[in-house]
Amino acid sequence: MTAVRCLPTPSMPCPVNGALVVGGKAAVRGKDLQATRRVVFEGRRGASDDVVVKPRVVAARHVEAVVSTRARSGPVTIINRFGGRATSQVRIRVEPAPIVAPESEPGAPRFFAGAKRQPRFSFTVRRPLEARIELVREADGSVVQTWTLVAEPGQPKAVSWDGRGPGGPQPAGRYRFRLVGEATSAAVPAAESDSSFSYYDQVFPIRGAHDLGQGGANNFGGGRGHKGQDMFAKCGTPVVAARGGEVEYAGFHAAAGNYVVVNGQDGLGYVYMHMRAAPLVRTGQRIPTGQALGEVGETGRATGCHLHFELWSAPGWYKGGSAIDPLPRLRAWDAYS
Ligand SMILES: [Zn+2]
Repeated sequence: MTAVRCLPTPSMPCPVNGALVVGGKAAVRGKDLQATRRVVFEGRRGASDDVVVKPRVVAARHVEAVVSTRARSGPVTIINRFGGRATSQVRIRVEPAPIVAPESEPGAPRFFAGAKRQPRFSFTVRRPLEARIELVREADGSVVQTWTLVAEPGQPKAVSWDGRGPGGPQPAGRYRFRLVGEATSAAVPAAESDSSFSYYDQVFPIRGAHDLGQGGANNFGGGRGHKGQDMFAKCGTPVVAARGGEVEYAGFHAAAGNYVVVNGQDGLGYVYMHMRAAPLVRTGQRIPTGQALGEVGETGRATGCHLHFELWSAPGWYKGGSAIDPLPRLRAWDAYS
């Protein structure tokens, strides 16, 4: 193995620092790679956090694999079918997916990954047929999912999309449902169909008037190692989960006040502090994107009503991930949701 690099795709550009991106592709280059069976993202020392994936493309000098949401920075190993192993000389950096905030089409519905409400396409047919529906990603024209259903006139049919496709969860962007084959002429989409829609990974967590902080100590790294962003809103403004997942902690802490930590479905850690009252969710609960968590407050070590929000790289909050500056993402989420 000579190098491990990020491989850009139309829906997933690579960061300039050459790091791999969760959900993106990793390309391994070297010699005699044709017998490769597995790619291992090693993470830290020890096997407990190793993530093993099957490569998508295997050739003599080139192997491609999707970077799992659970993968974290560390060496990368390839294993061939004879048990032979080769490990990268250097630690490969793995970063969260870049900010992708698709422009929303005026009037087109919006959906959020992991939310309860899913995009839905419904139609009726003029004659009995086996109708085929495809979900297409606008960025690269790729077909993400296909449905085939037997339809009879007078029986409305519908399909809905759960955000998944080949290789798992799909990136943010614009998508559309389309009828194919015979159905193109013999099926009629219902007026309420979400034929074309925008799809986002997160929702902005404060649901009401707010500001994103005034810089300085409100920002990531401001004050003495501030690990999040302080955003101000009236006490009582609803706070929701930016991304669904599993509630890792929901409780009270002398400094954090009423707080919630969520292990996101995307592998990132999401932290909400100083909420007014006891959280509306409990530890261990699985929650969707947009789940109500509580209200902006000033409990714990807080001055003024605000939400202290943290974002951690996989595998999350004080579990080996590291805090990342959430402000660029908060700005993007705030602009569309
Ligand atoms: Zn803070």
